[in-house]
Amino acid sequence: MSAQILDGKKIAELVRSEWKARADKLAQSGIKPGLAVIIVGNNAASAIYVRNKIKACSDIGIYSEVHSFPEHATQDEVLDCIQSLNENSHIHGILVQLPLPAHFENNCVITSIASEKDVDGFHLYNVGALVTGNTVFSPCTPYGVMVMLERNHIPIEGQHGVVVGRSNIVGKPMAFMLLEQGATVTICTSKTADLSQFTRSADILVVATGKPRMITAKMVKPGAVVVDVGINRLPDGRLCGDVDFESVKEVASYITPVPGGVGPMTITMLLCNTILAAERAQASVKQF
Ligand code: NDP
Repeated sequence: MSAQILDGKKIAELVRSEWKARADKLAQSGIKPGLAVIIVGNNAASAIYVRNKIKACSDIGIYSEVHSFPEHATQDEVLDCIQSLNENSHIHGILVQLPLPAHFENNCVITSIASEKDVDGFHLYNVGALVTGNTVFSPCTPYGVMVMLERNHIPIEGQHGVVVGRSNIVGKPMAFMLLEQGATVTICTSKTADLSQFTRSADILVVATGKPRMITAKMVKPGAVVVDVGINRLPDGRLCGDVDFESVKEVASYITPVPGGVGPMTITMLLCNTILAAERAQASVKQF
């Protein structure tokens, strides 16, 4: 039997309409949530991601501004910009589009963002908060995956969650978010010996490797929930995930497509985090 499709576009639309109502409520009290995006260099993919984020902001009622720096910009120039955005009360969220050019120190730049404006959830303080179960901002991609599971009433507690990939932006936070919800979690990497042994024991399998269609049907337990984070461009220009969708959909109980799965959720959760940051800023002003 074919798996049910976890339709990211549809869930993203629903979540955005709920959060638009929250943005509208803020607007009624004179606050427009604001997001600043910093981009350095000429990475074509980054430019597209930033454009999509700005359009999504405008659709939901978030003010946004882009600060573009040339490839040869110095780290200090970017840090100065972040400092002034930290102090700008119209800006509630700040994100630095990754990757940064090689002469930048990622952690130094990200950690210069005020943690209460770190809507990507990458600041070391926010990473620590997540790991200790005191989440401030959930990183957008794994947050989107959790929302997809929740909206489809997929149980997590007591399940074996296997995450393939250990990046700081997807794999690691994903594993901690599943753990927080009571899953037993295994993280696999490129160094894992006998990957299939682990993937075949997953009730929930999340794949974020950037390796096109590397997860095949024989690596998946019948009835498993399969979430494909990967976005890969094939030589013919088409997009595909890290999961071989056609074969795996015949074994899994639920599966995310690429495109149209996790992708639309990632931007949605960025919008949610920005609106949340604005709500928190309003609440803290009210306290004084
Ligand atoms: P990274 O390259 O930072 O990390 C990839 C991870 O996969 C690494 O931990 C690596 O292991 C692991 N890996 C690579 N090959 C294998 C293998 N054969 N077996 C097991 N593990 C392997 O990538 P990201 O986490 O940033 O992104 C992963 C994918 O998700 C990409 O396709 C990216 O485009 C996509 N993505 C999609 C988003 C969305 O919104 N849908 C958002 C962000 C990313 P090791 O550490 O040992 O090298």
